[in-house]
Amino acid sequence: MKEFINQRIKESIRERALSLGFIACGFADASALRSGTFLRAWIEAGRHGGMDYLSANLERRLQPGLSLPEAASIIVCMWPYPPPGPADPRWAAKLEGRIAAYALDEDYHSRLTHKLESLAEDLHRSCTTASRIQVDAGPLLEKELAIRAGLGWIGRNTLALMEGPGSYTLLACLLTTARFEPDPAYSGGDCGHCMACMPACPTGALRSRDPAPANSATAATHTAKASLPASGSIDSLDSRLCISYLTIEHRGPIERSLRADVGNWIFGCDECQEACPSNVQENVQDAAISPAFLRPKLVELLFLSHEEFRSRYGSTAVSRAKRRGLARNAAVALGNSANPAAIDPLADALATHDELLVRVHAAWALGRLGGHRAQSSLQRCLDSGPAPPLAEEAHLALAALRRAGISSGV
Ligand code: SF4
Ligand code: SF4
Repeated sequence: MKEFINQRIKESIRERALSLGFIACGFADASALRSGTFLRAWIEAGRHGGMDYLSANLERRLQPGLSLPEAASIIVCMWPYPPPGPADPRWAAKLEGRIAAYALDEDYHSRLTHKLESLAEDLHRSCTTASRIQVDAGPLLEKELAIRAGLGWIGRNTLALMEGPGSYTLLACLLTTARFEPDPAYSGGDCGHCMACMPACPTGALRSRDPAPANSATAATHTAKASLPASGSIDSLDSRLCISYLTIEHRGPIERSLRADVGNWIFGCDECQEACPSNVQENVQDAAISPAFLRPKLVELLFLSHEEFRSRYGSTAVSRAKRRGLARNAAVALGNSANPAAIDPLADALATHDELLVRVHAAWALGRLGGHRAQSSLQRCLDSGPAPPLAEEAHLALAALRRAGISSGV
């Protein structure tokens, strides 16, 4: 077995990572990860939703050496981002959506990749090594690696948590053939009896199979506990229920029973982080972030052209949702607004949008908003002989209006 790289080089790499703006940097060995059994069961239960890439690359996720032959160490770096600003209670009056805090800046993939490139160059100057950068876009279990590298623990909100910055962080990894002495695995505090994130989740996506803490006031509300593997847990999230998955990764219609709970989130969700007592920083809005990001106008999002979508979101993480996904999410949020000003734009989308997916969600939203204008636009849609998914949604929406009493809507 190769000798460990000199400690002085290791510490200089750590210092360099901190000087690049990372708040923590730890060293883990690149041996196979231990969460295979849990992860296989999680995927088998379908909790990964439509993220088939997770099952397709499972072995590579579990064995870092498959991503970089002869990988010996993984340098795990933690990047902080500003907490979300406070939720605006007047979003419905203003018809504004909400984007998760991590996506409010330039795309972190490219930003952190550039920083790790600098780190890799420094490493190459110090020793002969091959390396590979992974920033949330490759098959690697960053959270388990963060624990292995001593950076923190995985919370019941399924995110990596570090004392101090809490969970408002992103992880970036550098696999290397250089053999560093591993840092001690994390052995500090953890969530303890806290379960605050669970009732805060609007859709019940967080579940645990560990017994409810005896003195947890919220435990009784969480009988549907699924899976927190003992220490060093990966996660117990049911992605199919998670707003973050639904608004970003999920490509088809959002399950009807979940749409009302999505509120005005149009890309991601921060609710379980906002509820977390480990996130002690004040919620602040970064003055440098443009209002189009902080408070995106839902009606604009409903009708962005391809060009407008590219120019507004092309270089940001929001591009992951695609134009049609973002417009779908905007239709859902408009439906949740209870604001009559949303009816005309939704009726336009129902009649003319170039994406069937968006028209389907506009039909649902009109049924939720109610009123005669909503009813007549739904009826016109049905009279035009729409495609089956739209016909079904419009029928359901009209039926909902009838049940509620059409004129009692907004
Ligand atoms: S991101 Fe939102 S929906 Fe997903 S687990 Fe957290 S609170 Fe629940
Ligand atoms: S809210 Fe409580 S249980 Fe949830 S991640 Fe934070 S500390 Fe852990």
